[in-house]
Amino acid sequence: MKIGIMGAGQLGRMLGLAGIPLGLTFRFLDPAPNAPASAVGEQIVGEYDDPHVLERFADDLSLITYEFENVPMESACRLEALGKLVLPPPIALETAQDRLIEKQFFRSQGIPTPPFHPVTSYEELREAVRTVGLPAVLKTRRFGYDGKGQVVLQTEAELVPAWEALEGSPLILEGYIPFQRELSLIAVRGLQGELAFYPLVENHHREGILRLTLAPAPNLSQSLQQEAEEYGRRVLTELNYVGVLAIEFFEKEGHLIANEMAPRVHNSGHWSIEGATTSQFENHLRAILGYPLGMTTPRGHSAMINLIGSWPSPETVLAFEGAHLHLYGKPPRPRRKVGHITLTAETIEGRDALVEEIRQQHIVDF
Ligand code: AMP
Repeated sequence: MKIGIMGAGQLGRMLGLAGIPLGLTFRFLDPAPNAPASAVGEQIVGEYDDPHVLERFADDLSLITYEFENVPMESACRLEALGKLVLPPPIALETAQDRLIEKQFFRSQGIPTPPFHPVTSYEELREAVRTVGLPAVLKTRRFGYDGKGQVVLQTEAELVPAWEALEGSPLILEGYIPFQRELSLIAVRGLQGELAFYPLVENHHREGILRLTLAPAPNLSQSLQQEAEEYGRRVLTELNYVGVLAIEFFEKEGHLIANEMAPRVHNSGHWSIEGATTSQFENHLRAILGYPLGMTTPRGHSAMINLIGSWPSPETVLAFEGAHLHLYGKPPRPRRKVGHITLTAETIEGRDALVEEIRQQHIVDF
């Protein structure tokens, strides 16, 4: 069976790698030629919103999914109108693409969020600061990623430069959360509504980019996991979701505050390839195909380190017992995710020792 995937980046490549043993073949759509996923399937080079390209892409496919959340909602609906099954449902794209709609949705489901206020003018920014307080984060509502399109506001004096940096796009002001740590939940819902959750993982960012994920999150209490799963269940069920979805949280005073969600496989779930019984990629495919979901149980303790901008030699990485290297076949460029390393060990101590060695020996800067 051939599956269509909108986007042909590294997430598409890893979906392809998980699907080949299941007998699947893939067709990807991406405007960038020779994208990472072209190594594991056919790639159509074209724009996501070009009706002719969409028709060519969809031609003999019956099931289409995406690995990129900025696929235009209209394109997903156009594919549905061509008689194709598009999963996760396009409504999930619409909800996740706009930070204001997303936060309103979380709120409607009783999921805590930072305080927020929409901003479309300088006057509204002043009003938002009065409502939300300072410090705060001013963000573009759409197309922000890896910390792009955001400015932290500490004082009133920073309002004008922040406004000048971001004006022109619809914005949202969010209260700054003095969190203890950042966690994420990878959740999956099958065609029959069955649910599975991976353990919460702990994420470390620098310059707005994910650098390190520890899986499961250290000192993870059962009650925090239950809280995350309850929020995950509400989101998946309300959206009638099918596939893998990620929710990013801040942990503050032993509770979770939702930051954002991604209607797709997620960077903080890459550890699951070697670190869980079933990877997030295989589970996404199982879900959209209506197959039984795979177990999400971790295998020992893992750490995922992103390779940003450049990568070390494979020999250096593979000399570490328990290290697995994933290179995405992308030309190196500053701030670009070009690969990742997963470290697996039976114990937390073993995992932490491996992370420390990689750091001490400057194999990767993270
Ligand atoms: P985002 O693109 O919303 O995931 O933001 C990127 C990173 O900025 C997050 O992973 C946090 O480290 C930080 N951040 C974003 N929003 C907030 C907030 N409201 N309070 C504190 N930190 C934030």
